[in-house]
Amino acid sequence: MSEKVRIYELAKTLSLETKEMLAILDEMGVEYKSHSSTIEVETADTIRQLVEENRAEAAEKEKSEAEAAYKASLPSRAPVVTIMGHVDHGKTSLLDYIRNTKVASREAGGITQHIGAYQAQTPNGLITFLDTPGHEAFTTIRQRGANATDIAIIVVAADDSIMPQTREAVAHAKAANVPIIVAINKIDLASANPDKVMQDLMQVELIPEAYGGETITVNVSAHTGEGVDTLLEMISLVAEIEDYRADPEAESSAIVIESILDKQAGVLATVLTQAGTLRVGDYIVSGEQWAKIRAMIDYTGKRLKEVGPAVPVQILGFSGQPLAGDLVEAVSSEKMAKALTESRIEDREQNTKDMSGNQGITLDDLFNTVTVAKVNLILRADTQGSLEAIKGVIATESESTEEVDVEVLLATVGAPTEADLLLAGTADATVMSFGVNPAGSVVKAAEKQGIALKSYKIIYNLIEDVQKMIKGQIEPEFEEQVLGHAEVRMVISIPKQGNIAGSYVTDGVIKRGAKARLMRRGEEIHNSSVSQLKRFKDDVREVGTNFECGINLVDYDSFEEGDIIEVFEMVEVPAI
Ligand code: GDP
Repeated sequence: MSEKVRIYELAKTLSLETKEMLAILDEMGVEYKSHSSTIEVETADTIRQLVEENRAEAAEKEKSEAEAAYKASLPSRAPVVTIMGHVDHGKTSLLDYIRNTKVASREAGGITQHIGAYQAQTPNGLITFLDTPGHEAFTTIRQRGANATDIAIIVVAADDSIMPQTREAVAHAKAANVPIIVAINKIDLASANPDKVMQDLMQVELIPEAYGGETITVNVSAHTGEGVDTLLEMISLVAEIEDYRADPEAESSAIVIESILDKQAGVLATVLTQAGTLRVGDYIVSGEQWAKIRAMIDYTGKRLKEVGPAVPVQILGFSGQPLAGDLVEAVSSEKMAKALTESRIEDREQNTKDMSGNQGITLDDLFNTVTVAKVNLILRADTQGSLEAIKGVIATESESTEEVDVEVLLATVGAPTEADLLLAGTADATVMSFGVNPAGSVVKAAEKQGIALKSYKIIYNLIEDVQKMIKGQIEPEFEEQVLGHAEVRMVISIPKQGNIAGSYVTDGVIKRGAKARLMRRGEEIHNSSVSQLKRFKDDVREVGTNFECGINLVDYDSFEEGDIIEVFEMVEVPAI
């Protein structure tokens, strides 16, 4: 006999009004006479699940609305910009030009301080520039888990166009998922060809707005200053769209941009606050270092008592040099600061002990992880021709699977470099090189950092490994495979133990432990598995066609003569 539940009781356990419960039943097309009628346990379970799911959904929606409302209530903050690009394309010149023309120096003769970051004044508000150009600094910060940059400016010289480090810079910015603005520099030169740069940008999958794409490009000259105002306007435009905000009242957290050891002043650490407000006298901790903030000096040389989000300052008071990219957190006392840094030092020492003998991640480890449905690759090859060939095959491979996204972050000619490892480390990528061997120092560095780096001489082997990685990332699919059927011929009742289905195997085999469903007049009555299987008095593992047996199912014994027990297994569908 199957169990039943009274409607009003179910309503009560789910804290619903009886009226609401009846409405659900009506919607589901379940028939009932009144609120004291009973419904099947299975129906009650379905309703319970439905109600719980709806409630979870509503709570989720409320939470995200509250978060959006909170964010919208916060004050805006300045966007933080990093300038990247190929060597000699004018990164430093552009940063200098903006610093010299747009930073309001405090008083006549006041000198701007080089503290690793500054803020430019524009008609649309302040813009914070990180003063160390290049993607190495950018990614070193990211590698420590922090994302200091909101917008990346890729500088491309108009007389030189896309160069290897331009590609790298674009790959780094894309891996960080920050908006990109392209500054086409040196347009004052007679040999400048900005149109060629725009066309070449397609090679790095940046489609200029002029060509119907979404990438903003601005022609500039860091020498004459032409276009620089437009560039700043475009930064403000992106900032307005992205709507950067931060809570100055929140618990303080900041990022170390750089730190230097000054003979007179001691440690000078430039930090950028991300949330909250830092004040002179606060205790802060960064990595294994701590400070009682003695003074804060901004990029104009001005001493500040407090500093809010996105304003870079140099902090005096650190015990030792914190590392670029390390987070800065405020703590309540010197005691807390010391305890925290000491425990971090201990943890690190312990970890180095545990790690000794560890060989880092191998490709085998990588093939066995089934966590993210994404395969990131950095490709290196001897010639442009082999690179194109490899990219082509990989594109076909990744098209054949919808679940796994294969992304080639960077494909360049030449041997793998330490910069590749940096990108691989932050973007969780594998470095594969074809026909070129990485230098011994790079191989060692990869091992030390636990980055998968592999060289190939045969394209087929490389592709085979990519296929393995794709397979490793796909969740295995299972399919039902029917093992056999048995017909219930007699219900045998055993006192205190319940009923056994005296059955006859009509086809296939019945296996103990296998999944089973009970069918009655073509309908599924129950679904569980075979808990016991007997031939006469003996427990057996399996019974074949045309034999009689006794079957027990998990959680069910209301068998009727004529019931069919279908036994099946879930088998992994081989990935193609
Ligand atoms: P970085 O390596 O990208 O930082 O490039 P630099 O800023 O050091 O510039 C490299 C060279 O290009 C220097 O000789 C600059 O004077 C020159 N340069 C930079 N910007 C411009 C520009 O807009 N016009 C011209 N004509 N030369 C530039």
